[in-house]
Amino acid sequence: MNRKKIVFANWKMNLDRVRISKFLEELLNLKFNSDKVDIVIAPPLVYLSDTLNKVSLSEVSVAAQNTFYEHNGPYTGEVSVDMLKDIGCTWVMIGHSERRQHLLETNEMINKKVLLATQNGLKVICCLGETYEERRQGKTFSKILDQLKRALREVDEKHLSNIVIGYEPIWVIGSGKAAELKDIKEAHGFISEELKNMYPKSKQLPRIVYGGSVDSNNIGEIINLNNVDGVLVGSASLDCEKFCDIVIKTEYSND
Ligand code: PEP
Repeated sequence: MNRKKIVFANWKMNLDRVRISKFLEELLNLKFNSDKVDIVIAPPLVYLSDTLNKVSLSEVSVAAQNTFYEHNGPYTGEVSVDMLKDIGCTWVMIGHSERRQHLLETNEMINKKVLLATQNGLKVICCLGETYEERRQGKTFSKILDQLKRALREVDEKHLSNIVIGYEPIWVIGSGKAAELKDIKEAHGFISEELKNMYPKSKQLPRIVYGGSVDSNNIGEIINLNNVDGVLVGSASLDCEKFCDIVIKTEYSND
């Protein structure tokens, strides 16, 4: 399917004010075609406003790396969808495997976050993916399907165009070696078919992006696979030159 591509930078808990300024200055000099590719940067929470201000006159969008599933209240350390909207943030990442692992986020929490974010007009990238052990035991597809169905439970069809599914096989994240092309292709094909089964009438199903050690060397092959609508980039997104290279190669991919 010919859909607009999208490239996410997930900075995780990296960079600082000075390095972010320098990065954004360089990124804003990049000539890219925003009709062909969306760029979304996810900085650490404390740098969200600063990043939003710096990109405000550009075609670059900004995502929070997380949100909470209540509007407000006694939830120390959390940030609500309303607060993100209040500062002009339009995207949020939900369900990254590092949050599932270190912050013990469950599928139920992720579903509540996806519902609240989409119902309140935020765009969402919802991440899922299997562990190495699950892949080894032949459980990849049952795991992906379970996460997909539980994340999107009761999500209204009208919000699907505001959702991106991030497929990230957990063991390749940060490893420096992406998953095999055939495995990426198979997983994306599977997710695409399952989304069609879940929403048979929808004309605007979520885009599906791949994440896991994407860099400027492997992007060309990954982005041209069927059903790969973009990429979620961690380590390589910390270096503006590499990230810009990924954006441009995505823009010029076939499809
Ligand atoms: C990520 O954590 O979302 C990610 C894709 O990281 P990396 O590119 O470093 O594997």
